[in-house]
Amino acid sequence: MLHFLNNPDLSAESYQYFKDGLLVVHDKKIKEVGDFSELEKTIPVGTKVTHYKEGLILPGFIDTHTHYPQLDMIAANSGGHLLQWLEKFTFPFEKKFKDQRYANEVANFFLDELIRNGTTTAMVFTTVYPEAVDALFKAAEARGMCIIAGEVIGDRNLPEHLIQSPEKASKETEQLIKKWHQKPQSRLLYAITFRFAPTTSPEAFQKIEELKKKYSEVCIHTHISENQQETKWSNQLFGTKNYLDIYDCYHLLSNKTLLAHGVYLTDEEEQRMKTTGTSIAFCPTSNLFLGSGLFDLKKAEKNGVTVGLGTDVGAGTSFSMLQTLNDAYKVLQLQNQNLSPLEGFYLATLGGAKALALDQKLGNFLPGKEADFIVLNMAGVTPLLKRRLSYATALEDKLFVLMTIGDDRSIMATYIDGKLAWSQK
Ligand SMILES: [Zn+2]
Repeated sequence: MLHFLNNPDLSAESYQYFKDGLLVVHDKKIKEVGDFSELEKTIPVGTKVTHYKEGLILPGFIDTHTHYPQLDMIAANSGGHLLQWLEKFTFPFEKKFKDQRYANEVANFFLDELIRNGTTTAMVFTTVYPEAVDALFKAAEARGMCIIAGEVIGDRNLPEHLIQSPEKASKETEQLIKKWHQKPQSRLLYAITFRFAPTTSPEAFQKIEELKKKYSEVCIHTHISENQQETKWSNQLFGTKNYLDIYDCYHLLSNKTLLAHGVYLTDEEEQRMKTTGTSIAFCPTSNLFLGSGLFDLKKAEKNGVTVGLGTDVGAGTSFSMLQTLNDAYKVLQLQNQNLSPLEGFYLATLGGAKALALDQKLGNFLPGKEADFIVLNMAGVTPLLKRRLSYATALEDKLFVLMTIGDDRSIMATYIDGKLAWSQK
């Protein structure tokens, strides 16, 4: 049993590990966590106990940035960087989501794939059609998942089928907030969502600002400084020195704001993010796949920015947070930085919860938190993992092997809201 209390890179007492642990769950909440021998005596007779002999119980993974409409175009060979890839694959593909049946089918598959990979919470991009938002929230509600999403607002530099007037987008967003945000008996949360600065006119930004003012409790979800060309283009369009100034001048920065990528943020921008509580989603598989650049994690941490991990499917190449950590490690290696396995698993759990302002209810096993957790196979599920893990004795060594060569196959079981949602046969 392993869970984090703080970032291991920044704090000495950052985690709790119980070699033979017990997690006590009652009424969808964590009641207690500790040594099996101690806690066993305190649980009422007749309590159902599930034993995972070769498992390590961890909080469910939290994916802070991904796109469900890109499911069927993951691993698309555009031969180009971000802007070419968007034009060639993403924009045409999103047209299909006007079809409610297709949107439903994709949303169900997408969430099942997250669960199979041990991801229990995600902040998800949809597309411009309300049908696509309904499909995702309906599928998440049926699974009892905590999902944050919203309709994607955009009114320029897009193909015709993705353009919407700011008035229409604002009206639809408001209707969707009322329909889905904190819907009773659900764990659904709304995020006012726009693709990035180049597809958002000043008029659209004004509408977004008004929405955020009226619904201050909902999140903001967008991209920033993913690619040099996009960063330059954004500053040209708005006459700004820094990309972040665009979002800042419309009062969109807060601890409920998640900006994906941030590869080219300056120290000044990151310090402003710290002051406002704005978070970054570090998306290593996507940044490598599109050749966007290397995110400087240590600089962001030094500047005090909260960082979570994102798969960014479909520019990201895996649903697996283990594989995302594999690439995160390499991105840091290329900058002479190190990602310790403990920090890696922190980022995939509590770090993500903090980035999404959900750490009061998710991210670790403190009593009262919502019971989303997974079981990681520590004995190895493939011949190579079995062999390699037999040479790893320390916890950190095992975690490092799993975050380097592990994937969905290493997830033995996923529990959502205290209930078994999926397990290996
Ligand atoms: Zn993205």
